[in-house]
Amino acid sequence: MSREKLKNSIKKVTQQIDQIANEMINISHMIGGSFGFAYRKCGKANCWCSNKDKPGHPIVRITFTEQRKSRSKAIPSKDKEWIKEMTDNYRSFRQHFQELRQCENKLNELLNQFEQDVKKETKSLRDYLKMM
Ligand SMILES: [Zn+2]
Repeated sequence: MSREKLKNSIKKVTQQIDQIANEMINISHMIGGSFGFAYRKCGKANCWCSNKDKPGHPIVRITFTEQRKSRSKAIPSKDKEWIKEMTDNYRSFRQHFQELRQCENKLNELLNQFEQDVKKETKSLRDYLKMM
């Protein structure tokens, strides 16, 4: 890759990093966990759900990991939309984090190439450096 091309690639990647970081810091609320549905027995002896053939009451919940254990929490139905948004935000944040790491790796690689290229060219400017 020519020096100019290399420089342009580096600028492009740093712009991408900037963009991704901006999207990340624009997220102001999130909850670490994933949104889902489940069934749960309420425990009341006279409730229909006490029938062992019935799955139980449908609930909205989030599942998350705490101290390496998978846990879940039931969410009041009035907060269904809100909690979904919060977990979507979280997922989006994590996705951006991954993209950011990829870009950082790319930037690292390009800057390494840049270093090699500049060193090589600089050496060629002096005869006594050519043997290095
Ligand atoms: Zn019940």
